[in-house]
Amino acid sequence: MTIAQHLNIALPSPVQRFKPDWPGAEKVNIYIKRDDLIHPVVSGNKWRKLSGLFANADTLPREIISFGGGFSNHLHALGYCCAQLNIPFTAMVRGDYSLHPTPMLQDLASWGVTIRYITKLEYHRRHDPAYLTSLQNLYPLATIVPEGGTQQLALAGVQQTLLESQQTFDVVMSPVASGATLAGLITALTPKQHALGIAVLKGVGYLESLVEQFLPEGCCSNWQIEHAFHHGGYAKSGSELTAFINTAWERYQLPLEPVYSGKVFFALKVLLAQNKFAEGTNLLIVHTGGLQGARKDA
Ligand SMILES: *Cc1c(COP(=O)(O)O)cnc(C)c1O
Repeated sequence: MTIAQHLNIALPSPVQRFKPDWPGAEKVNIYIKRDDLIHPVVSGNKWRKLSGLFANADTLPREIISFGGGFSNHLHALGYCCAQLNIPFTAMVRGDYSLHPTPMLQDLASWGVTIRYITKLEYHRRHDPAYLTSLQNLYPLATIVPEGGTQQLALAGVQQTLLESQQTFDVVMSPVASGATLAGLITALTPKQHALGIAVLKGVGYLESLVEQFLPEGCCSNWQIEHAFHHGGYAKSGSELTAFINTAWERYQLPLEPVYSGKVFFALKVLLAQNKFAEGTNLLIVHTGGLQGARKDA
């Protein structure tokens, strides 16, 4: 049994045809890669990015430390996996939620995760080599996993999102935050296929550089990032996005949240209306999950 099977991660995730009554949608074929359905707790692309860490029962980490905010899908997925696998896990959380823990943090606590609330100043140093060395000295046995699970090791896991299914497509769409997911998708494309990332935060140029750092030298010009759909920035949203998400659920039973997937499907609707895709284009939208992060505070 693989570790993924042991954790009941249901792979491959389903691909569903999506036929919204949006202007322009009738001219293309839309498919959704439902990575939100791989597990009731472990969020889609966060499993993809972590899967390399848990690939082999003989090389499991002895202990894990990682970083995230109070709603982090990454800490949530990692916390669940560590609890199931009996791996001690310390979550370094940005800010102090000790008086008002979010649903995500309440889950971590119930799974026996050690939560360390750190100041924004300390959190800011999460990629600083000197800081990481001192952390490693404090936790000599620990594998330190970067925020979001975003590291080169994550790409092979993300590639599986495309490689595991037979679905043919011309354009794949996904959200972009740290860029590892888009980079993983790009590196699984054939030269004729194209990746379209939807920026979920403000970062023209910056987000492209994040993606590029993960791509092999000279690799791949068949991708781009759309920057018009961040709705004000990371985790920002507005009444238009909220209404769109509610309608998507009512009309199509498509579960979306405002931080990632809501922005991607909102973008899709606008791009279709603008005739951005040639007639007959096969679009594959990766639903990366993240629904736990949308739970309201208790
Ligand atoms: C973290 C996350 C993303 C962003 O992925 P990156 O690899 O950081 O770009 C997208 N969707 C969901 C649901 C996420 O939790």
